[in-house]
Amino acid sequence: MSNEIPVKQVDPTPDPSDKKNKTETVDLYASRQKIYVKEVKGFFQKIRNVSLMALMGMYFLFAWLTLDGQPLIHFDLPAREFHLYGATFYPKDFFLLSAMLIISAFGLFFITTLFGRVWCGYTCPQTVWTFIFMWIEEKVEGSRNKRMKLDKSPTSSEKLAKKSIKHALWLFVALATGVTFVGYFYPIRELIVDLFTLQANGWAYFWVAFFTVATYLNAGWMREQVCLYMCPYARFQSVMFDPNTRVVSYDPNRGEPRGNRKKGVAPTELGLGDCIDCEQCVQVCPTGIDIRDGLQYECIGCALCIDACDEIMDKMDYPRGLIRYTTENELEGKTSKLLRPRTFGYGAVLALMIGAVVFIIATRVPAQMDVLRDRGALFNFNGEGRVENSFTVKIQNMSEVPQTFELSVEGLEGIRILTTTNVTVTSGENLALPTVVDVPPESLSSSNSTIRFHAESQTDPSLLLETESRFVGPRPR
Ligand code: SF4
Ligand code: SF4
Repeated sequence: MSNEIPVKQVDPTPDPSDKKNKTETVDLYASRQKIYVKEVKGFFQKIRNVSLMALMGMYFLFAWLTLDGQPLIHFDLPAREFHLYGATFYPKDFFLLSAMLIISAFGLFFITTLFGRVWCGYTCPQTVWTFIFMWIEEKVEGSRNKRMKLDKSPTSSEKLAKKSIKHALWLFVALATGVTFVGYFYPIRELIVDLFTLQANGWAYFWVAFFTVATYLNAGWMREQVCLYMCPYARFQSVMFDPNTRVVSYDPNRGEPRGNRKKGVAPTELGLGDCIDCEQCVQVCPTGIDIRDGLQYECIGCALCIDACDEIMDKMDYPRGLIRYTTENELEGKTSKLLRPRTFGYGAVLALMIGAVVFIIATRVPAQMDVLRDRGALFNFNGEGRVENSFTVKIQNMSEVPQTFELSVEGLEGIRILTTTNVTVTSGENLALPTVVDVPPESLSSSNSTIRFHAESQTDPSLLLETESRFVGPRPR
């Protein structure tokens, strides 16, 4: 073994003309290149159109619908109530909202494991609104080539008119989105009247303006930037992918080597694959990537490149599916498994969570009663010589209809309620009823006895509320 340490001669005065000594400067900031998305028609675009119409329709319509006089969906923040499809939820039901969010998250993981980013491509609000805005742009400014030409052209009255119409329509959709969003918190019929008569609450104006501006910027200007730089899901979805996940992919075995050719010439004659390098798949991509470079985090799984490539394959008389939904295993000639440990894992958690929420909602009581002893005097003797205690009976009606209750008390011989025993509690009301109870002194075997209050609904005979309290009296002799 040598005892020498290898050393390298370093020239202290490097020659700048020597390429090895040159340092390369890399700019960490790159300004956004505007993406001109080409319109494409096809099977997956039709599916998205149906999903866009359904989701937009639901979003704009549901704020107006009522069920039994109650809004179908309404977050009543001042009353701290949440009306959802005929059921009313209160702050104590907050865990149900948390459970539903967890279910949504696991539903998303489950679907992503099976089919990649279908949520992003077909249902995410960012995609839905961006596609609506792109559709408006296409209708006002024309096709991709026309839009590129328009942007490069000098300012003219035609250019100004087209840009003004486009932005006015974008702002109109953004405003409708903002008003509808706030309409889920502030009854929408009143909101519209109040907004236009300047009677609305200042917060209503603030949130309408906020959501209008956010929609206009996100769907009109930022578009794919939201997916690429702001959405955390784009970054961590890759951990849910495995070689069996079915995603939009280019088949390099079939497509490569790519190259231009005339229709009718067999690719094998030219030593080429099926990709004619037309770049249609790139021109229709809303995030501006080339799917032929492999799976990329920028891909939102919209499948527009499948539609574009299928159209080219039809024109060339080649089989469709050069770009298709497939798995890494299938591209390598292996078989794919639909069911695997991670799908079972996500599926099992999802099924358990859904089962638990359904059980909790199904067994949820429509009303509840609490009885609090008044903090003043422990007990009094009334004019009849009986021992008297004062309570506050609280009844919360969580059903959708008013409930009339008959109040009674038991647990001591001769116990009775001296105050009102028949009360009506409106839907959503939390009634506090001062209640005085008395007993003959001889019934008391202890200075502190257990008594039981009952509230029997006259509206729904199956509804009986019960709760225990203490009756305090003098020490028996
Ligand atoms: S659309 Fe199809 S044929 Fe054209 S470049 Fe893309 S993969 Fe190749
Ligand atoms: S590569 Fe582009 S067009 Fe193709 S699915 Fe991904 S985002 Fe859509």
